[in-house]
Amino acid sequence: MKIKLRSIKTQITLTLVIVMSVVFILLGFVASERLKALPLIVLDQYQEIALSRAGELGNEIQGLDNQIQMISLSNVMVSMELEEIQTYLLSMTRQQLFRNFTFSTPDGLAWATYDQFIDISNQRQFIEIFINQKGSYLSRPFFSPFIPEPYPIITMSHAIKNDSNQTIGLVNGVVSTRFIDNILKSITFQEDGFAWIIDDLGNVVAHPDDNISIDTSFNQITGLDFALFSNSNEKTFSFKQDDKTMINVYASIPSTNGWTLILSIDQQQAFSKVSVVSDTINISLIMALIILIIILLISTNTIITPLLKLQNAFEQAKKGNLSYKADESAPNEIGEASKSFNQMLSQIRELTYIDPITGLNNFFSFLNEIPRLNYSMMDEDYFVYVVILSIDDFKRINSLYGYDVGNSTLRSLSLMIQPYLKENEMIARYFGDEMICSMIARSELEIRQRVEEIVAISRQPFQVSTIEIHLDVSCGVAKLEKNSTINMAIRQATLAKHKAKLDPFTHVIFYSQTIYLDILAKQDLEEAIAYAIEREEFYCVYQPIYHMSQKKIIGYEALLRWNNPDYQNIPIINVIKLAETKGYIHDIGRFVLRVAAKQLKRLNEVDPNLYMCVNVSPLQLQNQGFYECALTSLREIRFNPKNLMIEMTESAAMLDIDAKQDILLKLKNFGFRIAIDDFGTGYSSLIYIAKLPIDTIKIDREFISKVESDEYPRALIISILSIAKSLNLTVIAEGVETQEQALALQSIGCEIIQGYYISKPILL
Ligand code: C2E
Ligand code: MG
Ligand code: MG
Repeated sequence: MKIKLRSIKTQITLTLVIVMSVVFILLGFVASERLKALPLIVLDQYQEIALSRAGELGNEIQGLDNQIQMISLSNVMVSMELEEIQTYLLSMTRQQLFRNFTFSTPDGLAWATYDQFIDISNQRQFIEIFINQKGSYLSRPFFSPFIPEPYPIITMSHAIKNDSNQTIGLVNGVVSTRFIDNILKSITFQEDGFAWIIDDLGNVVAHPDDNISIDTSFNQITGLDFALFSNSNEKTFSFKQDDKTMINVYASIPSTNGWTLILSIDQQQAFSKVSVVSDTINISLIMALIILIIILLISTNTIITPLLKLQNAFEQAKKGNLSYKADESAPNEIGEASKSFNQMLSQIRELTYIDPITGLNNFFSFLNEIPRLNYSMMDEDYFVYVVILSIDDFKRINSLYGYDVGNSTLRSLSLMIQPYLKENEMIARYFGDEMICSMIARSELEIRQRVEEIVAISRQPFQVSTIEIHLDVSCGVAKLEKNSTINMAIRQATLAKHKAKLDPFTHVIFYSQTIYLDILAKQDLEEAIAYAIEREEFYCVYQPIYHMSQKKIIGYEALLRWNNPDYQNIPIINVIKLAETKGYIHDIGRFVLRVAAKQLKRLNEVDPNLYMCVNVSPLQLQNQGFYECALTSLREIRFNPKNLMIEMTESAAMLDIDAKQDILLKLKNFGFRIAIDDFGTGYSSLIYIAKLPIDTIKIDREFISKVESDEYPRALIISILSIAKSLNLTVIAEGVETQEQALALQSIGCEIIQGYYISKPILL
């Protein structure tokens, strides 16, 4: 998994994990500080035990000592009568607490209740009571020198005093240390905890371990210095025993000569509960931390995942996938944001994919959809086709009924076509009057049938707001080849469509190699035309214009010719149209004007009234440079332009007639004469066209060829002649091929003719 540090998820998670870890470390620290005090508390508790047990033991000893004291104070004892004392002491032994009693006189001779006289003058209690004059004395444990037995004994001695408080005797209670051992053995805690007692000199008084005798010293057991221990203020001390560390608490036993009760506990055991508690707390803290982190990860996931999904939606939109939908299911602000995003995207989609004028899918939407279609068809036997539908003469609808009807027509047409498209095929607006479709089919035959069906539907009349619309549609189709591009397929379909538009009988044309070769040929031709100017392959021929009554040539029309062996048979009008599209027409026009003017100069040297017609393309007229060029070439040959006649076709003159008026007026003012060529083909009214500053009308060959056979052209020419006369215009009949035509024209008053009947265009 790749961790992105700049991702909001990582940042939030990291921050929370860090914050939580810090909090938990602090908690752990506080807890461990608290836990550190726990052993002290535990030790305090042990010390309490030690104190209470030491107290109990002290009480026990005190109780025994009290009994001896009571005996010592009794009258029997004070009487010092041996026989009575023997009876009394023997009766006391029945209590079983004392093993025996001893009664001694100050000379050290003592009687013991096991009925024996013994010498105690060298015993400690004798010294303490009789010599040191103490009231009582508790001995440390020792083995009886008189009775052999396994357990040491202790003696509790009290002085017997007379009324003058003089020590007159001593009574001794002898107790086996077993009662102390039993008390010690009853003091058990933890597994290995035990209690033991030492006296004021550091010797063992009692120890539960039978191997440790009363001769054993504190130092031997603990390895510690007793002197240091006894002077220390510490409440505890510790020593090593085997592998264990024994921790010890202690308390002095009251009513003894500085005996100390020591509780020894294995440190580990002593604090086992403490470590259980601290382990539990630590584990709980860690568990809580882990659980919190898991909860955090889950909760950040639930918050962040929708956020990441939304971010992905933005990414998708950025990549142009405008049909992507953000997940709106998050029940929070992110869900709301996703809703807004989707609404926004649908608006963008609308603006991006829908043509605002017609409400149809636009070209961008088409471009966006077709790769998807292509991708989905890839593994199947289907091919994707691009179909371009062009409405022929759509301008007519716009100019006749207005743009609203035009747009509605496009919309209605697409609605008519839509049912003939499959589910994932698309129709979109292309440019102007053209629509583009993506279609799928298994074969060319199948797609041809479907497209022809669509064309047939498009050609059926339909209503657009009470107007009945008839459309002619031309279609170009291209297959989206596997190793080709969409743009290429669109270009190919466009070329096919161009061809379909030029062919009045075929409505659907598939792009093919032939079309491609035609294009190549056209490209070659274009290139050849460009070179023709440089290589001076162009020249002019001249066709005479003849006046029938005067029986003489009154002028010539200069016509362009191209001397190129590869393009001998191309009609010059095609060359000119191509030159117009490529912009070469300006150079060509300049050349013709100069050559024709030179020729005219020569002709006028013989006959000053001869005129020369020069054909001019409307593009030339629009070019500012044309006038300068015309004047320059005229000045060069020092010629007056009155015999130079500019010819412009009727259709060119009709195009933007107001602009033409200015241009032609300028030419007229220079001295040029102006003729309308091919008159009759543009269906314009002569009155209307006479708004232009023209001198001459050249009636198109189409009418002349039928002048003797057909009434209509004859009547038309008669009316042209009559209007021309009234407008003071000269009329020339073009393309006169026969004598009959010439005579027919003359009979209706048309005297000036041009055509093969007189002469073909010739070199002069
Ligand atoms: P246009 O100006 O109407 O020229 C007359 C055309 O009719 C010429 O064809 C001519 O050879 C042809 N013609 C003349 N008499 C007859 C006839 O009795 N029968 C038949 N069938 N045809 C006849 P061309 O030279 O092929 O020129 C065709 C068109 O090309 C011209 O029509 C003109 O519009 C254009 N054109 C020719 N030279 C130039 C030029 O230098 N500049 C411009 N802009 N256009 C030119
Ligand atoms: Mg002409
Ligand atoms: Mg003509």
